[in-house]
Amino acid sequence: MQKISFALKKKGKKIGVVPTMGYLHEGHLSLIRIAQKYSDIVILTLFINPTQFAAHEDLNRYPQDIPGDLKKCKKAGVDYVFSPKISKMYPKNFETYVETTQISLPLCGGSRPGHFRGVTTIVSKLFLITQPTVAVLGKKDFQQLAVIKRMGADLNFPIRIIGAPIVRDKDGLALSSRNVYLTLEERKNAVGISSALFWIRNQIKSGETRIAILMSHLKNKLFSCGLRLDYAECLHSENLTPLTHYQKGKTLFAVACFVGKTRLIDNIVV
Ligand code: AMP
Repeated sequence: MQKISFALKKKGKKIGVVPTMGYLHEGHLSLIRIAQKYSDIVILTLFINPTQFAAHEDLNRYPQDIPGDLKKCKKAGVDYVFSPKISKMYPKNFETYVETTQISLPLCGGSRPGHFRGVTTIVSKLFLITQPTVAVLGKKDFQQLAVIKRMGADLNFPIRIIGAPIVRDKDGLALSSRNVYLTLEERKNAVGISSALFWIRNQIKSGETRIAILMSHLKNKLFSCGLRLDYAECLHSENLTPLTHYQKGKTLFAVACFVGKTRLIDNIVV
């Protein structure tokens, strides 16, 4: 893949990369379309990265459908799919990791220690292999996008990192490969996450900007939908530091909830 990428660059082609763990849905396809706007060649990477999962997490049952994904990529006009084996990405003597030290601490960094170290390490490797001019990541994983932007700036990756809007189901639930785990009943409850976030946005529009009040309403709404809260936080959308006062356009509400055994995340920036 790296040889192909270098050859494409030599020909003057701009490469766009879309890193994914596969089991593609409309959210992933929207990233492909954005990558196509900003580049000549789109490489989609498809790799379930073991270093970003903790031992008790769902690495071994993460949904997979490589033939289906390849069909979707072909239809979407993806030029290359890079889907390496774990043993190629992490050979036995592997010992080098990439880590952000601050921006990875709150939110998912708090409840999934080591997660972002795995993410930054694999994304660095994928960037070096695919040699992109642009990389497109979804705002669905808001902290991941912020972490990768920080890493890109800190390590001088010559890559423009583009954040793509969250794609949602008709009822508001953010699309996620993990939604496939949900039973019918859980699927009904899961919509409570986005509803609670939209409700917060409306509250702010109607003039309620006190963060403590908004957060207490947000948590109550989530509990009342039968969701078990992992975290609900209000942070500055650029540096992910806690916010005590509403800041127009920069106020991030980020939520992680367990719906049954399935952990889902969502967010809005108001
Ligand atoms: P994943 O395969 O879940 O690791 O996601 C790969 C990329 O797709 C990440 O940059 C995600 O943020 C992005 N993504 C996943 N779900 C959505 C969604 N519903 N809307 C927009 N982007 C998404």
